[in-house]
Amino acid sequence: MTTSAPMIEVNALRKSFGALQVLKDINFKVETGGVVALLGPSGSGKSTLLRCINLLVVPDDGAIRVGTTTFAFGPTRKPPRTRELAAFRSRTGMVFQNFNLFPHMSVLQNVMEAPVYVRKLPRKDAQDLAMAQLEKVGLSDRAHQMPETLSGGQKQRVAIARALAMEPEVMLFDEATSALDPELVSEVLLTIQQLAADGMTMVIVTHEIAFAREVADRVVFMRDGVVVEEGPARQTIDEPRMEATRTFLSHFH
Ligand code: ADP
Ligand code: MG
Repeated sequence: MTTSAPMIEVNALRKSFGALQVLKDINFKVETGGVVALLGPSGSGKSTLLRCINLLVVPDDGAIRVGTTTFAFGPTRKPPRTRELAAFRSRTGMVFQNFNLFPHMSVLQNVMEAPVYVRKLPRKDAQDLAMAQLEKVGLSDRAHQMPETLSGGQKQRVAIARALAMEPEVMLFDEATSALDPELVSEVLLTIQQLAADGMTMVIVTHEIAFAREVADRVVFMRDGVVVEEGPARQTIDEPRMEATRTFLSHFH
């Protein structure tokens, strides 16, 4: 459903690391409830763009809006305050390649941590919320296990539940299945697919092209810090217009 204003809007975004310009004038939108797959070769700036969307990386220039909050960046603008950054970040759930679960905490404690310490929910409410999110990813029966006893796919589903426990407006996935053994990929993709069906707004960086074609409604191809092509997922993957996109996709056939 794409009835209201875009949930995410990125305008004229630029980011350099030293002399290396990693994002060069990126413009990018995600409709409310939309799913965008962000594709492109390694080093093209996909992770940096995702990190800019939740301000883990602070852009040099341009503007980012998520929901009703906008941040503008530039040489004459003051950098956002730590408290503003934290509030903004808590509205975007991010899932990384390597799970980053807290190893010394149970599955349930991992998922409860942010609701208790960031959202300041009473423990009982945080626990109910955490159990509901674990239910959603099919792991409520593992709540009292330690992360080390889980498979990679289960760990990643816990990481997704943990992000969901902040009740984010958007979810960002950065190669969430790239570190998994091949037989564990599908359970994580299925979980992401369910979130899409539930209407979660998402940006998914992935090398699973067939999955992107299936789940995303739009794809954005990046190369060398620019968007080279974007469009409806199936059409753009099946019939790319740009040479760079064709070359990239040819590695997957
Ligand atoms: P992708 O996710 O598409 O592989 P990245 O956004 O990770 O691309 O990286 C884009 C470029 O920016 C690469 O050349 C990478 O080495 C560089 N880069 C990313 N993060 C940093 C950083 N924190 N400091 C310096 N260079 C970085
Ligand atoms: Mg990356």
